Amino acid sequence: MQITNIEVICLRVPAPDQECEWGEDAVIVKVHTDTGLIGIGEADSSPEVVRACIETSQSNLYSYGLKSLLIGENPLEIERLWNKMYWASNYFGRRGAGIHAISAIDIALWDIAGQFYDVPLHTLLGGKYRDRIKAYGTFIPAPRPEDNRAIAAGLVKQGFTSIKFGGGVFGDDPETDYQIVKHVREAVGEHIEVQIDLASKWRTSGHAAFMAEKLEPFNLNWIEEPVLADDLAGYSKLAGKVRAKIAGGESLTTRYEFKHFLEHSRVDIVQPDITRCGGITEMKKIYDLAQMYGVQLVPHGFSTGILLAASVHFLAASEHGTLMEYSQSQSPLFTDLVANGLPFENGYVPVPNKPGLGIELNEDIIERYRA
Ligand SMILES: [Mg+2]
Repeated sequence: MQITNIEVICLRVPAPDQECEWGEDAVIVKVHTDTGLIGIGEADSSPEVVRACIETSQSNLYSYGLKSLLIGENPLEIERLWNKMYWASNYFGRRGAGIHAISAIDIALWDIAGQFYDVPLHTLLGGKYRDRIKAYGTFIPAPRPEDNRAIAAGLVKQGFTSIKFGGGVFGDDPETDYQIVKHVREAVGEHIEVQIDLASKWRTSGHAAFMAEKLEPFNLNWIEEPVLADDLAGYSKLAGKVRAKIAGGESLTTRYEFKHFLEHSRVDIVQPDITRCGGITEMKKIYDLAQMYGVQLVPHGFSTGILLAASVHFLAASEHGTLMEYSQSQSPLFTDLVANGLPFENGYVPVPNKPGLGIELNEDIIERYRA
């Protein structure tokens, strides 16, 4: 079997001159083969930048567009191809966008392998530990604190026993942050897990510690990305002071960055995104590292149903992969891009048993939102 083409498709819901919210754009790849098998992947990143990493022409030994490296290769040789891409893109890659692009292709290669061997991805990854994964619901909070009561109560009604919010206005103003957390906690009662995501907007560990203390009566399960992932001293200081667990790492790529982060941040939970960190191949290594540091891995996941499926297969095949994120985005790229998307059922997402990722794309959605 040979790779014949890598198709890169950029999608965007708002018009090009309109602001985009999380989940409203996407870049997906289709890896085509001479057997007719097609693998699907995505990168949750800046779509046009990822496209450039894949399609750019070769400049020198360390600046090859990823597509040119893979045409004619056997898609089943995933680890070797990962290393080939890593080496030959290392001037513009190594971290960040270059690894995001590798992630998308890597996921598609695993999808091809699953279809070729006629087994679900979790079988290829070593076997599944569970038939369903507990999911927590993530929403972007409404700007008026009291409006979040109904959103949070709605999630509990759907069956979530664990919820998270972040983005929007959250993190901008201490009093608004306090009021949002207060209203959400009051609305869901004391038995629901509540975690908050600052997307690094608390900026300093001093302010984060102040806020964490102020919010302590609301019994938060974890505080996510209070400060920038590069502020390892900030993370470490905070971890020693705060009762809630500290989580982070969704922006990091490769085992190298995660090793450094695990060594110095003292976080309780790492959150690699499978479509950014280097794909499934790299996620396995990051998972093993997290185990060695006694840290839980709860993948980040707030994009399309492709990321969702990849995360579910990965967690099913991970001994301690017991919790996942389930986006509450109403973007059609989350709700409709994958025609047979994985449902949320009474607190859990079922693990699929079809070959590969087991997903089919809705081509009408692709044509409607193609950028
Ligand atoms: Mg986050």
